[in-house]
Amino acid sequence: MRYNAEDWDDVVAVLRDPAEVAIVCHVNPDGDALGSLLGASLALAKSGARTWPSWGSDDVGLPDSYAFLPGAETLVQASEVPRAPVWLALDCGAGDRLGSLEDQARASECLINIDHHPGNDNFGTFNVVVPGASSTAELVVRLLQDVGIDLDRDIATCLYTGLVTDTGRFQYASASPEALRLGADLLALGVPAPAIASEIWESVPFGYLKLMGRMLGRATLFPSERFVYSWITLEDLEATGVDLDATETLIDLVRSTRAADVAAMFKEQPDGTYRASMRSKGPVSVAAIARDKGGGGHELAAGFTAEDMDEAVYDIRTALRGRLGGTSEKGGRLGGTSEKGGRLGGTSEQGGRLGGTSEQGGRRLDRKTTALEAGASEATSRRS
Ligand code: 5GP
Ligand code: MN
Repeated sequence: MRYNAEDWDDVVAVLRDPAEVAIVCHVNPDGDALGSLLGASLALAKSGARTWPSWGSDDVGLPDSYAFLPGAETLVQASEVPRAPVWLALDCGAGDRLGSLEDQARASECLINIDHHPGNDNFGTFNVVVPGASSTAELVVRLLQDVGIDLDRDIATCLYTGLVTDTGRFQYASASPEALRLGADLLALGVPAPAIASEIWESVPFGYLKLMGRMLGRATLFPSERFVYSWITLEDLEATGVDLDATETLIDLVRSTRAADVAAMFKEQPDGTYRASMRSKGPVSVAAIARDKGGGGHELAAGFTAEDMDEAVYDIRTALRGRLGGTSEKGGRLGGTSEKGGRLGGTSEQGGRLGGTSEQGGRRLDRKTTALEAGASEATSRRS
């Protein structure tokens, strides 16, 4: 048994000898969902199982930036997934994240729920829910190892993709020593990390630059709540030729300002609603805000669907004002004085936050560690 997960050994036992497995991830899958899905599917197929990798949306297919994933050609449409005796649900924080496949999954004899979202509702027959894990991919690797399946380059490529995306390229709090060691082990299997990075983060179509320009041009900051947001419309997508499912990382641009601790990105949907992505640099939890709006997610990364964007912005600001009680407006999350020193305690004019190579830089890095430790207890959650 690993991670103190009660059902761990049962899951290993089931996965040791499954004849047929439906393997599904959450709808609107991200890198961890897709990497875990295809990595698990390739591995179980290698051990002799018949697998059906899919998710519960109308049109199952990889976004361009993940088209490189090994096993892409094995994906099946949701409607083609049979009544398999064993179902493996990956990276689904709640049963409803299974989308159109939820009922079928719940009706199966054995539904295995492997996930790392805090607040997972344990919808499976067996549940391995480990909020401390960097990614669902990490849990899949450890399970496969206990099952006794040797990872090869293709399987490792899928699972590394889950790990590197969910840790924000090994930069979020979820990039634990364990996560980095796992990354190293996967690299040693021949994972082409630079090519993966290029596929995921340097392959946008040219129109995407124009979309970023539109989106950034209307970014709006509320300094007293340290909240920033922006939005894109269907018209933006049409004008720039970008697909809605290629807009997953826009939120990372919005969150990149020092002026805000909480960021939101709204995307107009074909049905007229807005999908909202929220990110926090801590200590504010955006999971609670998203849940209040009918969505969910992690402390530091969450989402929901809004009928009315202005109303949602108003509600977020209200929630943030309520939450700001103990936090000084100036100090920001890590307790520095924001105006000059910045969060990490260095003065940005002189040589940047991380200090470069000088001795001074080294000292600055030490101070950073101290400041980070001060903030770390609350800022422990991961992206998705
Ligand atoms: P993203 O902003 O990348 O779409 O989502 C961030 C995180 O929040 C992910 O972990 C995702 O699973 C979760 N999340 C996003 N939207 C929803 C939602 O509507 N319901 C729930 N339960 N979780 C969501
Ligand atoms: Mn994940």
